[in-house]
Amino acid sequence: MEKILPLLLLLCLFCGCASVATNTITQVSTIDALLAGSYDGVMSCGELLKYGDFGIGTFDRLEGEMIILDDRVFQVKSDGLVYSPSLSILTPFASVGYFVPDKRFDLPPGADLHGAEDAIDTAVPNKNIFLALKIHGTFRYMKTRSVPLQDKPYPALTEVTKNQPVFEISDVSGTIVGFRCPDYVKGINVPGYHFHFISDDLKKGGHVLDFTLKEGTVEADLCGRYLLILPDDGKGLEGLDLSRDRSAELQKVER
Ligand code: ZN
Repeated sequence: MEKILPLLLLLCLFCGCASVATNTITQVSTIDALLAGSYDGVMSCGELLKYGDFGIGTFDRLEGEMIILDDRVFQVKSDGLVYSPSLSILTPFASVGYFVPDKRFDLPPGADLHGAEDAIDTAVPNKNIFLALKIHGTFRYMKTRSVPLQDKPYPALTEVTKNQPVFEISDVSGTIVGFRCPDYVKGINVPGYHFHFISDDLKKGGHVLDFTLKEGTVEADLCGRYLLILPDDGKGLEGLDLSRDRSAELQKVER
């Protein structure tokens, strides 16, 4: 991968697409805008792939959970199944990057979500930088959720997730894709960990609520660059009250 990436970036420069360096997380819109009900998509999945081959997010009108893995976009809809969306579908919120691992380590067998987070914190203790994380493993148990397509007037995200479909999967192998963001991104992205899952057979997945690992390996990409792309004026943020602290709402919708 290390050898392919400079080539890829060179190609990108020639074809005129966004020149995004490695170690960069590119984000579309803000988590507080999503919490406030800004669910209309603002960037196509095709455009998003110009900023990375790896990432998570959601879709236009909040239609499910997004996983980008190995340059492919997957959509886990509210039936818990995995779809391959058209690249013309828009996203209102996503975080992506070109994944190049800096560290690789095994997780303690039997670890749950919190145990895995603790192990990552021990391996990469500097919480003031961004981490892109890929965990491949076999799981005795995986608990995920997705969110259903919303109609206008959009309810707040805390209302949507009150009735979120939750999926419990046993004995599954797959990949967790996600990020650890510094606390100081509060309001912009999710401070701490945010993970989505997709099974190896590409059939099941969602936003990770908990798991029990059988065995698994973490790859961590330490990222010191952060590119925030806001919707154009008139296309998503206008009229939203983004002045207040929505941390309590975020806690409700993420866990
Ligand atoms: Zn999520």
